Amino acid sequence: MLNKEVAKLMNEQINKEFYSAYLYLDMANYYASKNLNGFANWFTVQAQEERDHALLFQQFLLDSGEEVELTAIGAPDVPFPDFRAPLTAALDHEQFVTASIHNIYEVAAANKEYRAFHVLNWFIAEQVEEEKSADELIQKYDLYGGDCKGLYMLDAELGGRTYSAPSLVLD
Ligand code: MG
Repeated sequence: MLNKEVAKLMNEQINKEFYSAYLYLDMANYYASKNLNGFANWFTVQAQEERDHALLFQQFLLDSGEEVELTAIGAPDVPFPDFRAPLTAALDHEQFVTASIHNIYEVAAANKEYRAFHVLNWFIAEQVEEEKSADELIQKYDLYGGDCKGLYMLDAELGGRTYSAPSLVLD
């Protein structure tokens, strides 16, 4: 059995990761509606990664003999007034997720829940990557997105993103 508070926070994190997938699908749909299909692809792949994150927390809870509680996923309600808005909203959201995972780590550490460290350390490193890629996307948009040709090229680049399974494997 895991420490109760750690198990509770991980259950909540499953919901947060599924909400992330939902939010990024909403962003993908927004770009698809504007015919920016490369941006739509980038966020669709991002949504797949978020689903993986949810399933990793779920698997860890199951492996630890804990019950998994799936709760209602909130509707994404971030407004997208322009092409740049989803990009900054994505970075804000990743910073929120980072803080959430750091909080689980703090509670796990305070309760000497050592077996959770392996999973949480992977997520802490993953969040560095998530914030970096969200920030890079904003910078690329600011550099190239202001002009039609630049936006076209950036959209083509983002269309090349492919899904790869997470490097953390639990069984
Ligand atoms: Mg995530």
